[in-house]
Amino acid sequence: MKTVLVTGAGGGIGAGIARVLAKRDWHVVVNDVSASSCDKVAADIGGTALPGDVTADPAGLAEAALAVNGRLDGLVNNAGIIRRGPLSDLDPADVDAVLGVNLRAVVALSAAALPHLSAAGGAIVNIASMAAEVPQLNGGLYAASKAGVVSFTRQAAVEWGAEGVRVNAIGPGMIRTEMAEAVYADPVMYERRRALIPVGRIGAPEDIGRVVAFLLSDDAAYVSGQHVLVDGALTQTLMAHFPQPPC
Ligand code: NAP
Repeated sequence: MKTVLVTGAGGGIGAGIARVLAKRDWHVVVNDVSASSCDKVAADIGGTALPGDVTADPAGLAEAALAVNGRLDGLVNNAGIIRRGPLSDLDPADVDAVLGVNLRAVVALSAAALPHLSAAGGAIVNIASMAAEVPQLNGGLYAASKAGVVSFTRQAAVEWGAEGVRVNAIGPGMIRTEMAEAVYADPVMYERRRALIPVGRIGAPEDIGRVVAFLLSDDAAYVSGQHVLVDGALTQTLMAHFPQPPC
């Protein structure tokens, strides 16, 4: 059975990705730093829980995922964190944490999984962000870390294409998850955000999961090195803010 490792899948977008992939007959190895949420999602979808911090032992994580079914066809680097603050006042510990989880772990786990994915003709999907393309004000180094993920994705796609491994990234827009729950719990803030999105709604984790499923599938056999924005066209609205003469 095709097997995929999804990091940070104990909640939010990662759990949504895991649910979509399980419905499409993937065996999902559910990683999260929280063992209890890992166990719950894995039990819900009939997957395998593999708790652990993605920054701790990437090679061990890749080996353990391989050992579940003796094959690894997909890797979804989804675990991510944000430490908010202005660029003029960054806490070095926050910089290390954000770069460690969002970028270094993505690179290290991808490299560790590469031989297994290569043997299976597999693919990697990195969950970046629309913040890789447009700044996230007062988001600390979050946007820079995600821009790094996109750059890594493009380079890895070129370096690893000959090994039969495709590498793509997804840039979620505004998705309702625990990471952003403080914002969405406020109905005024929720409506102000929703009104900005051309397709008329805040995204759900499954919106990202379905695009992950496509990028891992043979339907995407000729797609590599891309950053696919899944944002309801939010990032295309800049010109809508310009005053215009009447038509
Ligand atoms: P979330 O609700 O906070 O979920 C992230 C999951 O990753 C949590 O279960 C978290 O565990 C886990 N995690 C954190 N650090 C980890 C580590 N070192 N090792 C293993 N697991 C770890 O966030 P989300 O909104 O679903 O975000 C998922 C991804 O999408 C992230 O990469 C994020 O940057 C990206 N993204 C989200 C949005 C959005 O609007 N939500 C937009 C753009 C991009 P704990 O909760 O137990 O710490």
